[in-house]
Amino acid sequence: AKDDGKNTFHFYSAESNASSVSRLTIENGLRRALERNEFTLLYQAKLDLTGQYIIGAEALIRWQHAELGMVSPQEFIPIAEETGLIIQIGEWVLKQACRDAYAWQEIAGRPIRVGVNISARQFREDSLHKVILDALDESGLTPDCLELEITESMIMQNAERASQMLQHFRNLGTHVLIDDFGTGYSSLGYLKHFPIDSLKIDRSFVRDIPQDADDMAITQAIIAMAHSLKVKVVAEGVETQAQLEFLRTKGCDQLQGYIFSRPLSAEAFLGMLRFDTAR
Ligand code: C2E
Ligand code: CA
Ligand code: CA
Ligand code: CA
Repeated sequence: AKDDGKNTFHFYSAESNASSVSRLTIENGLRRALERNEFTLLYQAKLDLTGQYIIGAEALIRWQHAELGMVSPQEFIPIAEETGLIIQIGEWVLKQACRDAYAWQEIAGRPIRVGVNISARQFREDSLHKVILDALDESGLTPDCLELEITESMIMQNAERASQMLQHFRNLGTHVLIDDFGTGYSSLGYLKHFPIDSLKIDRSFVRDIPQDADDMAITQAIIAMAHSLKVKVVAEGVETQAQLEFLRTKGCDQLQGYIFSRPLSAEAFLGMLRFDTAR
């Protein structure tokens, strides 16, 4: 393990000795993290294209480790995947997110959607269907308020199975969103064979708007094609006014990013909702 003094933890190349130590530290830490209550969920608002109305939020996991401090999901999710620990962690995320969303709805008095990231390993488990059902049952959340974020690459790995799984989710009444869209070399023509509700344009395309003309052309084309297939489009990583205006002009349906809100605690997100509802 290596601490840079700022309470962040970095993971180094596979060759270095530090890496094997830290990997083991993470692995062992992950095994105990659930029982020690070290995970929390933060929520980042998803707004409509006016930027005035909160449709819901994406749940983003955080891990506060006693010695390592805050470990980024980009560091521990891959290890949780390899070790299979992601199955239990993912189940906790689903249940907690559904509970939180139900609580917000009770207070806001209107439907609030919650997006949950599903990992590749979770997606391969037949039990996922039941875990989702249980999370909905136990929380009381209606299925149309749960949005499952599945990456494009997960669908492409095994199209036949993905199609089956997505159909199950559709039958449950949950929404399916294709995450990181544009990074997996699939086409919308291909994706139209899958029962999906929306796709999220990857942040890498949004980031360089308006400097990068190619990224603007790609983003515009994705929105236009998605709409012609009756698929909604979400943009993530919206940080600047110029990005916001471009996406608005092109008719992007939902927006997410630091320009509106950073990921917040469940309580802080509720505060944001109250403000939104009051307007
Ligand atoms: P993702 O699903 O693509 O999530 C978007 C990431 O972009 C989040 O990072 C979010 O905090 C960050 N972000 C949001 N708005 C902005 C912005 O305007 N600018 C910039 N620069 N970044 C922004 P985070 O929370 O560190 O999560 C990273 C990744 O970890 C996620 O990428 C997702 O793949 C994974 N992840 C997070 N939570 C979970 C979870 O509960 N389960 C699983 N399986 N994966 C998760
Ligand atoms: Ca996501
Ligand atoms: Ca992404
Ligand atoms: Ca670029």
